[in-house]
Amino acid sequence: MRKFSPDWFRQQFPALHKPYCYLDSAATSLRPQVMIEATQAYYQNGGTVHRSHYSQAKEATERYEACRQQVAQLINAAEANQIIWTRGSTESINLVAQAWLAHQLQPGDEILVSEAEHHANLLPWLMLAEQTGAKVVRWPLSPQGELEVDELALRLTARTRLLAVTQMSNVTGYVPPMAEIIALAHQAGVPVLVDGAQGIVHQPTDVQRWDADFYVFSAHKLYGPTGIGVLYARKDRLAEMRPTQGGGKIISHVDFDGYRLLSAPWCFEPGTPNIAGVIGLASALGFHQSVDWQAAEAWTCQLADYAAEQLAALPGITLFRAAGSPIISFVFESLHSADLFTLISEHNVALRVGQHCAQPLMQALGVQGTLRASFAAYNTYDDVEKLVRAVTFAYQLLTEEE
Ligand code: PMP
Repeated sequence: MRKFSPDWFRQQFPALHKPYCYLDSAATSLRPQVMIEATQAYYQNGGTVHRSHYSQAKEATERYEACRQQVAQLINAAEANQIIWTRGSTESINLVAQAWLAHQLQPGDEILVSEAEHHANLLPWLMLAEQTGAKVVRWPLSPQGELEVDELALRLTARTRLLAVTQMSNVTGYVPPMAEIIALAHQAGVPVLVDGAQGIVHQPTDVQRWDADFYVFSAHKLYGPTGIGVLYARKDRLAEMRPTQGGGKIISHVDFDGYRLLSAPWCFEPGTPNIAGVIGLASALGFHQSVDWQAAEAWTCQLADYAAEQLAALPGITLFRAAGSPIISFVFESLHSADLFTLISEHNVALRVGQHCAQPLMQALGVQGTLRASFAAYNTYDDVEKLVRAVTFAYQLLTEEE
Protein backbone atom coordinates (compact mmCIF):
# COMPACT_ATOMS: atom_id res chain seq x y z
CA MET A 1 0.00 0.00 0.00
CA ARG A 2 1.23 3.46 -0.94
CA LYS A 3 2.00 6.02 1.78
CA PHE A 4 -0.46 8.88 1.44
CA SER A 5 1.04 11.96 -0.18
CA PRO A 6 -1.42 14.84 -0.80
CA ASP A 7 0.56 15.98 -3.89
CA TRP A 8 0.73 12.54 -5.47
CA PHE A 9 -2.92 11.89 -4.71
CA ARG A 10 -4.05 15.17 -6.28
CA GLN A 11 -1.94 14.47 -9.38
CA GLN A 12 -4.01 11.36 -10.09
CA PHE A 13 -7.09 13.47 -10.86
CA PRO A 14 -6.95 15.09 -14.34
CA ALA A 15 -9.78 17.51 -13.44
CA LEU A 16 -7.33 19.12 -10.99
CA HIS A 17 -4.54 19.63 -13.52
CA LYS A 18 -6.03 23.06 -14.16
CA PRO A 19 -7.11 25.50 -11.42
CA TYR A 20 -10.26 24.09 -9.83
CA CYS A 21 -11.36 24.60 -6.24
CA TYR A 22 -13.64 21.58 -6.01
CA LEU A 23 -15.53 21.36 -2.73
CA ASP A 24 -18.53 19.34 -3.86
CA SER A 25 -17.27 15.79 -3.37
CA ALA A 26 -20.31 14.83 -1.26
CA ALA A 27 -22.37 15.29 -4.45
CA THR A 28 -19.94 13.34 -6.60
CA SER A 29 -16.19 12.80 -6.41
CA LEU A 30 -13.69 13.58 -9.14
CA ARG A 31 -12.18 10.56 -10.91
CA PRO A 32 -8.59 9.32 -11.08
CA GLN A 33 -6.92 8.85 -14.46
CA VAL A 34 -6.59 5.11 -13.92
CA MET A 35 -10.36 4.69 -13.66
CA ILE A 36 -10.99 6.87 -16.71
CA GLU A 37 -8.50 4.77 -18.69
CA ALA A 38 -10.08 1.48 -17.55
CA THR A 39 -13.50 2.63 -18.74
CA GLN A 40 -12.10 3.87 -22.02
CA ALA A 41 -10.19 0.62 -22.57
CA TYR A 42 -13.38 -1.36 -22.11
CA TYR A 43 -15.14 0.72 -24.76
CA GLN A 44 -12.14 0.36 -27.06
CA ASN A 45 -12.19 -3.46 -26.69
CA GLY A 46 -15.93 -4.02 -26.46
CA GLY A 47 -17.56 -7.34 -25.62
CA THR A 48 -20.63 -8.18 -23.61
CA VAL A 49 -20.91 -10.20 -20.38
CA HIS A 50 -22.45 -13.61 -19.65
CA ARG A 51 -23.53 -14.08 -23.24
CA SER A 52 -20.58 -15.01 -25.45
CA HIS A 53 -17.21 -16.73 -25.45
CA TYR A 54 -15.02 -14.69 -27.76
CA SER A 55 -11.98 -13.39 -25.94
CA GLN A 56 -13.20 -9.81 -25.36
CA ALA A 57 -16.50 -11.07 -23.95
CA LYS A 58 -14.72 -13.62 -21.74
CA GLU A 59 -12.39 -10.95 -20.41
CA ALA A 60 -15.26 -8.51 -19.80
CA THR A 61 -17.24 -11.20 -17.95
CA GLU A 62 -14.27 -12.12 -15.77
CA ARG A 63 -13.59 -8.52 -14.81
CA TYR A 64 -17.28 -7.83 -14.29
CA GLU A 65 -17.67 -10.76 -11.90
CA ALA A 66 -14.33 -10.22 -10.17
CA CYS A 67 -15.51 -6.77 -9.13
CA ARG A 68 -18.21 -8.31 -6.92
CA GLN A 69 -15.40 -9.89 -4.91
CA GLN A 70 -13.65 -6.51 -4.64
CA VAL A 71 -16.84 -4.93 -3.31
CA ALA A 72 -17.36 -7.85 -0.94
CA GLN A 73 -13.86 -7.24 0.41
CA LEU A 74 -14.44 -3.50 0.73
CA ILE A 75 -17.50 -3.91 2.93
CA ASN A 76 -16.54 -7.32 4.36
CA ALA A 77 -19.47 -9.25 2.89
CA ALA A 78 -19.15 -13.01 3.37
CA GLU A 79 -19.66 -13.81 -0.34
CA ALA A 80 -19.43 -12.05 -3.69
CA ASN A 81 -22.90 -13.25 -4.68
CA GLN A 82 -24.43 -11.01 -2.01
CA ILE A 83 -23.53 -8.03 -4.20
CA ILE A 84 -26.21 -6.88 -6.65
CA TRP A 85 -25.36 -4.25 -9.28
CA THR A 86 -27.78 -1.34 -9.51
CA ARG A 87 -27.66 2.18 -10.95
CA GLY A 88 -26.76 3.65 -7.55
CA SER A 89 -27.86 4.03 -3.93
CA THR A 90 -31.26 5.32 -5.03
CA GLU A 91 -32.02 2.29 -7.15
CA SER A 92 -30.65 -0.07 -4.48
CA ILE A 93 -33.03 1.34 -1.86
CA ASN A 94 -35.97 1.18 -4.27
CA LEU A 95 -35.05 -2.42 -5.01
CA VAL A 96 -35.20 -3.32 -1.33
CA ALA A 97 -38.55 -1.55 -1.06
CA GLN A 98 -40.10 -3.31 -4.03
CA ALA A 99 -38.29 -6.65 -4.15
CA TRP A 100 -38.08 -7.39 -0.44
CA LEU A 101 -40.51 -5.32 1.65
CA ALA A 102 -43.50 -4.79 -0.68
CA HIS A 103 -44.71 -8.39 -0.61
CA GLN A 104 -44.45 -8.63 3.18
CA LEU A 105 -46.22 -5.44 4.23
CA GLN A 106 -49.71 -5.29 5.65
CA PRO A 107 -51.80 -2.15 6.12
CA GLY A 108 -50.83 -0.54 9.44
CA ASP A 109 -47.25 -1.91 9.36
CA GLU A 110 -44.54 0.65 10.06
CA ILE A 111 -41.31 1.63 8.32
CA LEU A 112 -39.08 3.60 10.66
CA VAL A 113 -36.93 6.24 8.94
CA SER A 114 -34.50 8.63 10.56
CA GLU A 115 -34.91 12.36 10.15
CA ALA A 116 -31.33 12.64 8.87
CA GLU A 117 -32.07 10.82 5.61
CA HIS A 118 -31.46 11.88 2.03
CA HIS A 119 -34.70 11.75 0.01
CA ALA A 120 -33.36 8.56 -1.59
CA ASN A 121 -33.91 6.86 1.77
CA LEU A 122 -37.32 8.40 2.42
CA LEU A 123 -39.30 8.58 -0.81
CA PRO A 124 -39.10 4.86 -1.68
CA TRP A 125 -40.65 4.17 1.75
CA LEU A 126 -43.34 6.83 1.41
CA MET A 127 -44.25 5.44 -2.02
CA LEU A 128 -44.32 1.90 -0.65
CA ALA A 129 -46.53 3.04 2.23
CA GLU A 130 -48.92 4.61 -0.27
CA GLN A 131 -48.99 1.35 -2.22
CA THR A 132 -49.64 -0.93 0.75
CA GLY A 133 -51.39 1.06 3.49
CA ALA A 134 -48.32 0.87 5.70
CA LYS A 135 -47.01 4.05 7.34
CA VAL A 136 -43.65 5.73 7.56
CA VAL A 137 -42.65 6.68 11.11
CA ARG A 138 -40.08 9.38 11.86
CA TRP A 139 -37.12 8.78 14.16
CA PRO A 140 -36.42 12.39 15.14
CA LEU A 141 -33.03 13.95 15.67
CA SER A 142 -32.13 15.34 19.08
CA PRO A 143 -31.72 19.13 19.42
CA GLN A 144 -27.97 18.45 18.92
CA GLY A 145 -28.72 16.91 15.52
CA GLU A 146 -28.01 13.34 16.67
CA LEU A 147 -29.88 10.04 16.49
CA GLU A 148 -30.27 8.73 20.02
CA VAL A 149 -30.67 5.08 20.80
CA ASP A 150 -33.09 5.84 23.69
CA GLU A 151 -35.34 7.63 21.25
CA LEU A 152 -35.06 4.68 18.83
CA ALA A 153 -36.23 2.30 21.56
CA LEU A 154 -39.43 4.38 21.85
CA ARG A 155 -40.12 4.21 18.10
CA LEU A 156 -39.63 0.46 17.55
CA THR A 157 -42.99 -1.28 17.83
CA ALA A 158 -44.47 -4.71 17.12
CA ARG A 159 -45.53 -3.28 13.72
CA THR A 160 -42.06 -2.02 12.67
CA ARG A 161 -40.92 -3.96 9.58
CA LEU A 162 -37.73 -2.05 8.73
CA LEU A 163 -35.43 0.66 10.02
CA ALA A 164 -33.80 2.84 7.34
CA VAL A 165 -30.84 4.90 8.49
CA THR A 166 -27.82 6.62 7.00
CA GLN A 167 -24.19 5.79 7.76
CA MET A 168 -23.29 9.47 7.40
CA SER A 169 -25.42 12.58 6.86
CA ASN A 170 -24.81 14.29 3.52
CA VAL A 171 -25.55 17.65 5.17
CA THR A 172 -23.65 17.66 8.47
CA GLY A 173 -21.39 14.63 8.14
CA TYR A 174 -22.96 13.23 11.31
CA VAL A 175 -22.23 9.51 11.84
CA PRO A 176 -24.85 7.64 13.89
CA PRO A 177 -23.68 4.85 16.27
CA MET A 178 -24.48 2.11 13.76
CA ALA A 179 -23.47 -1.00 15.73
CA GLU A 180 -25.63 0.06 18.67
CA ILE A 181 -28.55 1.01 16.42
CA ILE A 182 -28.56 -2.30 14.56
CA ALA A 183 -28.20 -4.30 17.77
CA LEU A 184 -31.21 -2.55 19.29
CA ALA A 185 -33.33 -2.90 16.14
CA HIS A 186 -32.46 -6.60 15.91
CA GLN A 187 -33.39 -7.14 19.57
CA ALA A 188 -36.83 -5.85 18.55
CA GLY A 189 -36.80 -8.19 15.50
CA VAL A 190 -36.46 -5.29 13.04
CA PRO A 191 -34.18 -5.53 9.99
CA VAL A 192 -32.01 -2.52 9.13
CA LEU A 193 -31.08 -0.90 5.83
CA VAL A 194 -27.97 1.27 5.99
CA ASP A 195 -27.51 4.01 3.38
CA GLY A 196 -23.76 4.07 2.83
CA ALA A 197 -23.72 6.66 0.01
CA GLN A 198 -21.58 9.07 2.08
CA GLY A 199 -20.23 6.74 4.75
CA ILE A 200 -18.45 4.32 2.40
CA VAL A 201 -16.17 7.15 1.27
CA HIS A 202 -15.00 8.17 4.73
CA GLN A 203 -15.28 5.13 6.99
CA PRO A 204 -14.09 1.55 7.00
CA THR A 205 -17.29 -0.47 6.57
CA ASP A 206 -17.96 -3.94 7.91
CA VAL A 207 -21.46 -5.20 7.16
CA GLN A 208 -20.87 -8.45 9.06
CA ARG A 209 -19.64 -6.75 12.22
CA TRP A 210 -22.71 -4.53 12.16
CA ASP A 211 -24.88 -7.41 11.00
CA ALA A 212 -26.59 -5.03 8.55
CA ASP A 213 -29.50 -6.58 6.66
CA PHE A 214 -29.02 -4.28 3.67
CA TYR A 215 -26.25 -1.88 2.71
CA VAL A 216 -26.17 0.40 -0.34
CA PHE A 217 -23.70 2.75 -1.98
CA SER A 218 -22.96 4.51 -5.29
CA ALA A 219 -19.68 4.21 -7.19
CA HIS A 220 -19.61 7.85 -8.25
CA LYS A 221 -18.91 9.18 -4.77
CA LEU A 222 -16.06 6.70 -4.37
CA TYR A 223 -13.96 7.83 -7.34
CA GLY A 224 -15.87 5.55 -9.72
CA PRO A 225 -18.25 6.12 -12.63
CA THR A 226 -21.82 7.37 -12.49
CA GLY A 227 -24.71 5.01 -13.11
CA ILE A 228 -23.39 2.07 -11.11
CA GLY A 229 -24.12 1.17 -7.51
CA VAL A 230 -24.34 -1.67 -5.06
CA LEU A 231 -26.95 -3.43 -3.01
CA TYR A 232 -25.59 -5.81 -0.39
CA ALA A 233 -28.10 -8.10 1.29
CA ARG A 234 -27.61 -10.54 4.14
CA LYS A 235 -28.12 -14.10 2.85
CA ASP A 236 -31.47 -14.67 4.54
CA ARG A 237 -32.76 -11.33 3.22
CA LEU A 238 -31.48 -12.13 -0.25
CA ALA A 239 -33.50 -15.35 -0.15
CA GLU A 240 -36.62 -13.32 0.74
CA MET A 241 -36.23 -10.95 -2.23
CA ARG A 242 -38.30 -11.43 -5.41
CA PRO A 243 -37.21 -9.93 -8.72
CA THR A 244 -39.32 -6.98 -9.79
CA GLN A 245 -38.07 -6.74 -13.35
CA GLY A 246 -37.92 -9.43 -16.00
CA GLY A 247 -35.56 -9.62 -18.95
CA GLY A 248 -32.57 -11.38 -20.46
CA LYS A 249 -30.18 -13.52 -18.42
CA ILE A 250 -32.18 -13.93 -15.21
CA ILE A 251 -33.64 -17.40 -15.87
CA SER A 252 -32.45 -20.93 -16.56
CA HIS A 253 -35.68 -21.83 -18.37
CA VAL A 254 -38.75 -20.03 -19.69
CA ASP A 255 -41.76 -21.02 -21.77
CA PHE A 256 -45.31 -19.77 -22.05
CA ASP A 257 -46.29 -21.56 -18.85
CA GLY A 258 -43.63 -20.11 -16.60
CA TYR A 259 -39.93 -19.68 -15.81
CA ARG A 260 -37.17 -20.82 -13.47
CA LEU A 261 -35.04 -18.00 -12.03
CA LEU A 262 -31.27 -18.04 -11.72
CA SER A 263 -29.93 -17.61 -8.20
CA ALA A 264 -29.04 -14.22 -6.71
CA PRO A 265 -27.51 -11.84 -7.61
CA TRP A 266 -28.08 -12.61 -11.32
CA CYS A 267 -31.89 -12.88 -11.04
CA PHE A 268 -31.94 -9.20 -10.01
CA GLU A 269 -29.92 -7.97 -12.98
CA PRO A 270 -32.06 -8.33 -16.13
CA GLY A 271 -30.83 -7.00 -19.47
CA THR A 272 -27.39 -5.97 -20.63
CA PRO A 273 -25.84 -4.35 -17.58
CA ASN A 274 -23.61 -1.33 -17.10
CA ILE A 275 -20.43 -3.25 -18.00
CA ALA A 276 -18.22 -0.17 -18.35
CA GLY A 277 -19.56 1.06 -15.00
CA VAL A 278 -18.55 -2.13 -13.21
CA ILE A 279 -15.14 -2.23 -14.90
CA GLY A 280 -14.64 1.44 -13.94
CA LEU A 281 -15.66 0.67 -10.37
CA ALA A 282 -13.20 -2.24 -10.29
CA SER A 283 -10.44 0.14 -11.26
CA ALA A 284 -11.57 2.78 -8.73
CA LEU A 285 -11.52 0.10 -6.03
CA GLY A 286 -8.04 -0.98 -7.10
CA PHE A 287 -6.98 2.65 -6.72
CA HIS A 288 -8.74 2.78 -3.35
CA GLN A 289 -6.93 -0.33 -2.15
CA SER A 290 -3.57 1.12 -3.15
CA VAL A 291 -3.89 4.18 -0.89
CA ASP A 292 -3.50 4.48 2.88
CA TRP A 293 -7.04 5.64 3.57
CA GLN A 294 -6.53 6.31 7.25
CA ALA A 295 -3.91 8.90 6.35
CA ALA A 296 -5.98 10.24 3.42
CA GLU A 297 -8.99 10.64 5.68
CA ALA A 298 -6.92 12.32 8.39
CA TRP A 299 -5.71 14.84 5.76
CA THR A 300 -9.28 15.44 4.55
CA CYS A 301 -10.60 16.07 8.06
CA GLN A 302 -7.62 18.27 8.92
CA LEU A 303 -8.54 20.49 5.95
CA ALA A 304 -12.22 20.52 6.91
CA ASP A 305 -11.32 21.37 10.54
CA TYR A 306 -9.21 24.28 9.36
CA ALA A 307 -11.98 25.49 7.02
CA ALA A 308 -14.58 25.24 9.80
CA GLU A 309 -12.33 27.21 12.15
CA GLN A 310 -11.80 29.97 9.55
CA LEU A 311 -15.48 30.14 8.57
CA ALA A 312 -16.65 30.17 12.20
CA ALA A 313 -14.79 33.47 12.68
CA LEU A 314 -17.01 35.24 10.11
CA PRO A 315 -19.81 37.40 11.57
CA GLY A 316 -23.37 36.06 11.45
CA ILE A 317 -22.40 32.54 10.34
CA THR A 318 -23.86 29.30 11.74
CA LEU A 319 -22.12 26.04 10.93
CA PHE A 320 -23.86 22.67 10.83
CA ARG A 321 -21.07 20.18 11.09
CA ALA A 322 -20.49 17.08 13.18
CA ALA A 323 -17.08 17.19 14.89
CA GLY A 324 -14.31 15.97 12.59
CA SER A 325 -16.57 15.65 9.56
CA PRO A 326 -15.44 16.26 5.95
CA ILE A 327 -18.75 18.04 5.26
CA ILE A 328 -19.52 21.61 6.40
CA SER A 329 -22.94 23.17 5.94
CA PHE A 330 -23.39 26.82 6.82
CA VAL A 331 -25.80 29.74 6.67
CA PHE A 332 -25.52 33.46 7.36
CA GLU A 333 -28.04 35.29 9.47
CA SER A 334 -30.43 37.38 7.32
CA LEU A 335 -28.68 36.51 4.05
CA HIS A 336 -30.04 34.17 1.45
CA SER A 337 -27.72 31.24 0.76
CA ALA A 338 -28.51 31.37 -2.97
CA ASP A 339 -27.27 35.00 -3.18
CA LEU A 340 -24.03 34.06 -1.44
CA PHE A 341 -23.69 31.03 -3.69
CA THR A 342 -23.91 33.11 -6.87
CA LEU A 343 -21.11 35.38 -5.70
CA ILE A 344 -18.98 32.51 -4.39
CA SER A 345 -19.32 30.71 -7.74
CA GLU A 346 -17.90 33.79 -9.48
CA HIS A 347 -14.65 33.00 -7.61
CA ASN A 348 -14.64 29.53 -9.20
CA VAL A 349 -15.22 27.80 -5.91
CA ALA A 350 -17.45 24.76 -6.46
CA LEU A 351 -19.88 24.39 -3.55
CA ARG A 352 -23.44 23.23 -3.32
CA VAL A 353 -26.40 25.29 -2.15
CA GLY A 354 -29.96 24.29 -1.29
CA GLN A 355 -31.68 21.57 0.66
CA HIS A 356 -29.33 18.78 -0.40
CA CYS A 357 -32.26 16.38 -0.99
CA ALA A 358 -32.87 16.41 2.76
CA GLN A 359 -35.93 18.60 3.37
CA PRO A 360 -36.94 16.94 6.68
CA LEU A 361 -33.40 17.50 7.98
CA MET A 362 -33.56 21.16 6.90
CA GLN A 363 -36.78 21.52 8.88
CA ALA A 364 -35.18 19.87 11.91
CA LEU A 365 -32.22 22.27 11.66
CA GLY A 366 -34.65 25.20 11.28
CA VAL A 367 -33.23 26.44 7.97
CA GLN A 368 -34.53 26.85 4.41
CA GLY A 369 -31.30 25.55 2.94
CA THR A 370 -27.55 25.76 3.45
CA LEU A 371 -24.32 26.25 1.60
CA ARG A 372 -22.22 23.10 1.72
CA ALA A 373 -18.49 22.60 1.32
CA SER A 374 -17.44 18.96 1.19
CA PHE A 375 -13.82 17.84 1.25
CA ALA A 376 -11.90 14.93 -0.26
CA ALA A 377 -8.29 13.83 -0.02
CA TYR A 378 -7.37 15.71 -3.23
CA ASN A 379 -8.14 19.08 -1.61
CA THR A 380 -5.46 21.41 -0.28
CA TYR A 381 -4.94 24.27 2.15
CA ASP A 382 -5.06 26.53 -0.88
CA ASP A 383 -8.65 25.36 -1.49
CA VAL A 384 -9.54 26.34 2.08
CA GLU A 385 -8.01 29.81 1.58
CA LYS A 386 -9.98 30.25 -1.66
CA LEU A 387 -13.19 29.15 0.03
CA VAL A 388 -12.78 31.53 2.95
CA ARG A 389 -11.79 34.41 0.64
CA ALA A 390 -14.80 33.82 -1.63
CA VAL A 391 -17.25 33.51 1.28
CA THR A 392 -15.85 36.65 2.94
CA PHE A 393 -16.09 38.57 -0.35
CA ALA A 394 -19.73 37.46 -0.88
CA TYR A 395 -20.66 38.29 2.70
CA GLN A 396 -19.07 41.74 2.51
CA LEU A 397 -20.72 42.58 -0.80
CA LEU A 398 -24.16 41.55 0.43
CA THR A 399 -23.89 43.41 3.74
CA GLU A 400 -22.26 46.57 2.39
CA GLU A 401 -23.91 49.81 3.55
CA GLU A 402 -25.12 52.05 0.73
N1 PMP B 1 -27.97 8.88 0.27
C1 PMP B 1 -27.12 9.86 0.55
C2 PMP B 1 -26.73 10.09 1.98
C3 PMP B 1 -26.58 10.65 -0.46
O1 PMP B 1 -25.73 11.64 -0.18
C4 PMP B 1 -26.95 10.37 -1.80
C5 PMP B 1 -26.38 11.19 -2.96
N2 PMP B 1 -26.41 12.55 -2.77
C6 PMP B 1 -27.85 9.33 -2.04
C7 PMP B 1 -28.33 8.60 -0.99
C8 PMP B 1 -28.30 8.99 -3.43
O2 PMP B 1 -27.24 8.54 -4.20
P1 PMP B 1 -27.38 8.40 -5.80
O3 PMP B 1 -27.89 9.72 -6.27
O4 PMP B 1 -25.99 8.11 -6.24
O5 PMP B 1 -28.33 7.29 -6.05
